[in-house]
Amino acid sequence: MGITKTDFMRGMQCPRMLWLDRHRPGLRVIPPETQARLDAGNDFSDRAMGMFGPYEEMTVYRPGTDVPDKAAMIERTRERMEAGAEVLCEAAFSNYNNYCAVDILRRTPAGYDMYEVKNAGEVRPQFVKDAAFQYYILLRCGVRVGKAFLVLHGETEEEPFRIEEVTREVRKLYSWINDHIWELNRVKKAPEEIRTEPGPQCTDPYPCWYWAYCHGEPARDEDGAEAEVRLFEDAAGQDALSTERMEGTDEG
Ligand code: SF4
Repeated sequence: MGITKTDFMRGMQCPRMLWLDRHRPGLRVIPPETQARLDAGNDFSDRAMGMFGPYEEMTVYRPGTDVPDKAAMIERTRERMEAGAEVLCEAAFSNYNNYCAVDILRRTPAGYDMYEVKNAGEVRPQFVKDAAFQYYILLRCGVRVGKAFLVLHGETEEEPFRIEEVTREVRKLYSWINDHIWELNRVKKAPEEIRTEPGPQCTDPYPCWYWAYCHGEPARDEDGAEAEVRLFEDAAGQDALSTERMEGTDEG
């Protein structure tokens, strides 16, 4: 059990959020508008896969589920890189169990360029941190990364994608990632709940899905009526699956 990109981004917003994701995901309340934005982001990422022409997708699911089989994805990625694949989507890597799947990895004469797809019109600081986490894992796995890019919304239907280079920015964050990733591993594994007090982090950069639980308030549905907080009362094993399903559901 290491740290994934989603774990890192959520744990840096609030350690308690990361702990709850791992141990009590049934307490999440995801507003419908947030879910719609996550779904739109996934659609945008799917469309971006073909932006450089033919590609190979590395996604593998556990049989009969929609849960990614990370070990199989890592193995497929390794095989296809060795075979000289030009464009790999959801290319998966792990270093000391810390894991990422890169939206698009594109072969260059010197190595690979990486592309992180975001369903947004402008570069935001959290997007750069997100890309920096992947850059960190790739380098730790011995991948020669030339440049790092964000793929954003284009201005028109004819030009749906806009590419922004963030190589310099992500390189600067390498030490910052390394300074925090091991502590977040400890947070995730902690047997007792991390009792971070609610504060500004509950809404910045994203509204937290555990708001009702941590603030001792009933969840509210769209009409403001009291709703059941525990939307998913999963069994313990299902909780772990729920957490893994969150990969790729980072907001933005
Ligand atoms: S509601 Fe606030 S304190 Fe609770 S997990 Fe979320 S960010 Fe952390």
